[in-house]
Amino acid sequence: MSEAPTTYTALGRELDYDPDQLREKYRQERDKRINPIWDKQYREVVGEFAHYSDDDPFAESDGTRDPITRTVEFLVIGAGFAGMMTAARLKQSGYTDIMIVEAGSDFGGTWYWNRYPGAQCDIEAYCYLPFLEETNYMPKGKYAFGPEIYEHSCRIADHFGLRDHACFSTRITGMRWLEDSKRWQVSTSRDDKLSARYVIVCTGFMNRPKLPGVPGIENFEGHSFHTCRWDYEYTGGDNNGNLTGLKDKRVGVIGTGASAIQCVPHVGESAEHLYVFQRTPSSVGLRGYSTTDPEWVKTLEPGWQRARQKNLDDVVGGRPFDVDLVHDGWTDIFRNLQSSVLPGMGKDPEEGVSPEEAAFAAEIADFEKMNEIRARVDSIVEDEKTAELLKPWYRQFCKRPCFNDEYLPTFNRDNVTLVDTSDFGGVERITENGVVAGGVEYEIDCLIYSTGFETSTGYKRRFGFEIQGKSEKSLFDHWAEGRRTLHGHSTHGFPNWFFVGASQTGVSFNYAIMLEMQTENLVAIFDEARRRDATVIEASAAAEEAWVQEIRRHAADNQEFFESCTPGFYNNEGQARDTTATFTGDAYAPGANAFEEVLIAWREEQQMEGLDFSN
Ligand code: NDP
Repeated sequence: MSEAPTTYTALGRELDYDPDQLREKYRQERDKRINPIWDKQYREVVGEFAHYSDDDPFAESDGTRDPITRTVEFLVIGAGFAGMMTAARLKQSGYTDIMIVEAGSDFGGTWYWNRYPGAQCDIEAYCYLPFLEETNYMPKGKYAFGPEIYEHSCRIADHFGLRDHACFSTRITGMRWLEDSKRWQVSTSRDDKLSARYVIVCTGFMNRPKLPGVPGIENFEGHSFHTCRWDYEYTGGDNNGNLTGLKDKRVGVIGTGASAIQCVPHVGESAEHLYVFQRTPSSVGLRGYSTTDPEWVKTLEPGWQRARQKNLDDVVGGRPFDVDLVHDGWTDIFRNLQSSVLPGMGKDPEEGVSPEEAAFAAEIADFEKMNEIRARVDSIVEDEKTAELLKPWYRQFCKRPCFNDEYLPTFNRDNVTLVDTSDFGGVERITENGVVAGGVEYEIDCLIYSTGFETSTGYKRRFGFEIQGKSEKSLFDHWAEGRRTLHGHSTHGFPNWFFVGASQTGVSFNYAIMLEMQTENLVAIFDEARRRDATVIEASAAAEEAWVQEIRRHAADNQEFFESCTPGFYNNEGQARDTTATFTGDAYAPGANAFEEVLIAWREEQQMEGLDFSN
């Protein structure tokens, strides 16, 4: 692209690249990755593969205990951010009969499980860590590493007194609505018999690791694990690296998504040799890190965190904003869009800019951002061929953008080899001794799957347990044509069953703000039930249908964009039109702040219309 003539113009500016040529390149790169067996290309972690998910390398014991028989008012499933925030807000609202069931042996969810070296949240810590003001904690720097986030999870648990409510190392195995008692009967992997008035499912949307569905995976005789169950006993070291156990090992990492970007530098530093098997390169922007300035902290007024979270969501959601408080790689593209490509846009989107013009301007800003990302690869990676392979050819938000300063330099090391598999649809085969890609077998002692999580497979497979509502109807039959909820939290026919997460709610790159508004809304619903002296809460069929249509209406606006994207979990592995399990098409596209406005109006003006309260 660097040789493109400088005669192209757009938006009254001269471009030093040809936008048509770039569009065509994106299309070719996308087409070569479209996989006809998109939803079957991964191996489910069951049977002989179950240990990739079921094993808990971080638990101090196997959690054996006697079964519990208990009746509770609130059963919260999951002790990650969603579960903790739900339980904390319930306690703030005066509810005390709460039980939290969690598969891990502590609080933290994602941050309990994902302890790979280098694990960090690349969303600004001041926006991402919940309850900073309530817990009087200020993150050490602009981005928090895994251990700090895990510690903060424990801080939240202690601050709100959640430990006494927790039941760890326990998985839910099924739940049934009992119409006579108007309660949920819940079973667990520890043979517990639980009865709950309200069930709140907070199990996250990336809790089931997946493996490549390639032949021979069961034959590998070396050591292997998934990034979300890092085996430090084998590798040595910790989140800071120093993986001494790998010094005489040939290591393979399959996958180059956000997890790999963070762990690869540490593996490269420690292993005798590292092979990184890439199918699609991530876009890797400048991380930039600064420690927290105590003088800045002194300037913060009460309510600062929520204001900052909302500002971040406005900026990355393309809504009007006056100031970009976060000012980092996430907000960069939108800031540029507003200030240079389309001055005035964002300030007053209604005035003088048609949707087509705005879309074109966004595309141009995106091209320029991605040109910068590709130029960054050239400026860091010394070997030209490797640099070429590391360049992403798609629009920035087709796949989750990454921000990291150590990943690209790792490919300048003599002991690190990038194996690009894009021409072969990924790694082809796994043998007893290693990985085959492009017909070449790479011998490996330790294979690390950085292949992500199930986000597009069927709901039942992802939940991992049966849920039977009224008349014993399965939730998964009710959702056979796609998820059906009112505002993401309730489903008709499943009274007193609630969900907190990433489905049919306002989507944001900052998961924490999505949870803030959902958990606040949920507790407002319980408060309303208490006020009305009701014990059964159920979404009406009409309200559910209206919300599903609202989700689809907005999703249609993004369809063209996602269809033009390289496959990934944002576009259902390239099947953006499939509504049965689409991740992005399942979100309220206008974003988290817009969703909060919907919820506030629903609570205040519409008096929670569509939710039936009874006894
Ligand atoms: P991803 O799903 O993002 O990445 C999986 C990787 O595996 C992709 O590079 C994929 O390639 C590759 N892959 C899959 N199958 C094959 C195959 N057969 N051969 C070769 N490569 C293959 O998972 P991650 O764990 O990296 O990240 C998941 C999500 O977790 C992120 O998107 C993000 O939302 C979150 N996360 C957030 C972080 C943060 O800083 N906040 C840090 C880490 C993760 P392809 O792209 O071609 O499909």
